[in-house]
Amino acid sequence: MGKPTGFMEYDRVNPKAQSPKERIKHFNEFHTPLSKEEQEKQGARCMACGVPFCQAGMMIGGMASGCPLHNLIPEWNDLLYMGNWEQAYKRLKRTSSFPEFTGRVCPALCEKACTCNLNGDPVSTKSNELAIIENAYKEGYAVPTPPRNRTGKKIAIIGSGPSGLAAADQLNHRGHSVTVFERFDRVGGLLRYGIPNMKLEKHIIDRKIDMMKAEGVEFVVNTDVGKDKKATEILKDYDRVILACGASNPRDIKVPGRELKGIYFAVDFLRATTKSLLDSNFADKKFISTKGKNVMVIGGGDTGNDCVGTSIRLGAKSVIQLEMMPKAPDTRTENNPWPEWPKVCKTDYGQEEAIAMFGSDPRIYTTTVKEFIGDKAGNLKKAVCCKLESRKDEKTGRMMMVPIEGSEFTLDVDVVLIAAGFLGSQDYVTKAFGVEVNARTNVNTAPGQYKTNVDRVFTAGDMHRGQSLVVWAIREGREAACAVDLDLMGYTSLQVQ
Ligand SMILES: Cc1cc2nc3c(=O)[nH]c(=O)nc-3n(C[C@H](O)[C@H](O)[C@H](O)COP(=O)(O)OP(=O)(O)OC[C@H]3O[C@@H](n4cnc5c(N)ncnc54)[C@H](O)[C@@H]3O)c2cc1C
Ligand code: SF4
Repeated sequence: MGKPTGFMEYDRVNPKAQSPKERIKHFNEFHTPLSKEEQEKQGARCMACGVPFCQAGMMIGGMASGCPLHNLIPEWNDLLYMGNWEQAYKRLKRTSSFPEFTGRVCPALCEKACTCNLNGDPVSTKSNELAIIENAYKEGYAVPTPPRNRTGKKIAIIGSGPSGLAAADQLNHRGHSVTVFERFDRVGGLLRYGIPNMKLEKHIIDRKIDMMKAEGVEFVVNTDVGKDKKATEILKDYDRVILACGASNPRDIKVPGRELKGIYFAVDFLRATTKSLLDSNFADKKFISTKGKNVMVIGGGDTGNDCVGTSIRLGAKSVIQLEMMPKAPDTRTENNPWPEWPKVCKTDYGQEEAIAMFGSDPRIYTTTVKEFIGDKAGNLKKAVCCKLESRKDEKTGRMMMVPIEGSEFTLDVDVVLIAAGFLGSQDYVTKAFGVEVNARTNVNTAPGQYKTNVDRVFTAGDMHRGQSLVVWAIREGREAACAVDLDLMGYTSLQVQ
């Protein structure tokens, strides 16, 4: 696999990123791909290690280590090194439904588990993956492959995020007739209306959807199932249903002043930005403007980072990001060894841009908001914040972040974006289909299964496992497709991995 001495001969090279001050002038992706020759050398760095943890996708220390799709990484790295790009694409496609999405937005669990970490930098698996799929489109061998035969069975998939799309792709290739229902005007779920354009340009989604349409998948947009279309109608018209509606219930910040004008949920802000960009390049002004405003993002995670990057692009005067937890260490601690997922501080693109623009990291750790203060017209003007410390809860024995008395301070704020996570599925859909949910309002199934308590109804993605990652949503969609096929046909030839 690869070149056994490649990791000693070649350094890791990443696609070059445009400088923060340049890239904030636009909403496009900002990495320049490597040349084919350079990418092949990166494939050569995969060193035929005995146990390729990169493709394990297993739980270690309570966290996933390696690729959840079990992508055949050493195999396609070797094919890349040999210059056999078309074969590399075929190996990649065996396990991965959408490498064009994961190659852009995946946090690359594979790379964190790569054996090369022990002596230096990991193999650049994510950029190798992206290069393989993009080259396949460029060279013209990523083409529609409709099924030769149809089974006559009809499947409805509710929700067009990565889990619904992965299930649709698998079941359609199996020969079933698949219809995907989406409540918004465009297909893609959070790929479209969550993840900003600079991480995933939306024509990349359109290109794949066009291919799926050419292969026979039907998409019905602007149809909110459970509101615009009844669940009973869907159950009558289709042989099986997969609920893949995501975990779109945002966690709120319930403090005095929450009702003031200028406080939004992160995904509403990000969706409005992308929709206005796609509809009119912002000419319709139907987005939440941060121009000249002091922005506070509540939540130090990836969604918060996307809000930082987007606010800066829309012209914010200042951006800060509140995080309840203390700053993570910069390097692995002794009790978090390879190949566990590294619990380290990551400075993402939005934070890099804030540092370049405002001179300091936007994150303020161990801090939360106690109150919002507005003017007479009900516009947000200030936020009263306080510091937090970790203390043991007397009753439960669990460690909790609690306010430190007398630590309050006030900040000038015009816009607040709440990126404090998601609480689970929306109940109008689960009630409409009568499916059971658990305490977190995720749809209930037996462990590792996708069948709900309702006959012929299955579930997948964030709606099932809770807020997660694109790569997990794809895996869930593929596994749910297998479960549906087995239930329909009595056997399945679909491959999960
Ligand atoms: C801002 C943000 C940034 C993120 N960035 C990353 C990232 O960089 N990398 C990463 O791996 N993960 C990221 N994630 C997480 C990732 O996007 C999700 O885990 C993933 O999209 C979940 O896929 P899904 O198919 O389960 O659900 P979703 O993507 O949420 O899609 C569900 C779809 O169902 C539709 N729907 C819901 N109810 C109905 C109904 N009743 N009728 C019809 N349609 C309905 C919704 O409109 C939506 O389009 C991010 C999440 C957010 C919020
Ligand atoms: S999907 Fe993610 S974890 Fe899997 S190979 Fe691609 S970048 Fe790595």
